[in-house]
Amino acid sequence: MAILEIIHVPDPRLSEKCRPMRPEEINDELRLFLRDMAETMYAAPGVGLAAPQVGDTRRFLVADPGSQDEGSSGRRGVDLITMINPEIVQASKDLYKAEEGCLSVPELWENFERPRWVEVRWLDEHGQPRQRRFEDFAGVVIMHEMDHLEGVTILDRVSRFKRSRYLRARKKARQRGG
Ligand SMILES: [Zn+2]
Repeated sequence: MAILEIIHVPDPRLSEKCRPMRPEEINDELRLFLRDMAETMYAAPGVGLAAPQVGDTRRFLVADPGSQDEGSSGRRGVDLITMINPEIVQASKDLYKAEEGCLSVPELWENFERPRWVEVRWLDEHGQPRQRRFEDFAGVVIMHEMDHLEGVTILDRVSRFKRSRYLRARKKARQRGG
């Protein structure tokens, strides 16, 4: 197992639309990489991590929406979800508002509205089709990670003013070596 490097905005790989995985790419090498991604996500700590965040612009992600819940320590990995080529089958019209942060957009927290639930279809790490409905916070996590596969981060969803202010502050922090 290895902890991977998480890349940050404005790295161009985070703005790329990821390409679908081909069936022959769902192999042991990918499964090892997914395990490293999960390890990286838990260590961060975070509740989701998409491939572009570790520099791979193909369509896969890991998520464990319950892993940061109070009293969940020790449950780590139990609810790990691995998605390859995920697609939204249906989304609720009803909206749900939640605060989102991102491991690739350090120190930015914003409230966004998203569908209250989404029905998602994907392939698991063995290439088996799966389908499930994710609601409330779990839905937010899955939709947030799926946005990454489209090259969209929460920084793309805030106002232009906030975005440029954020990028300026990060640049300054990097120059200071922070
Ligand atoms: Zn993110």
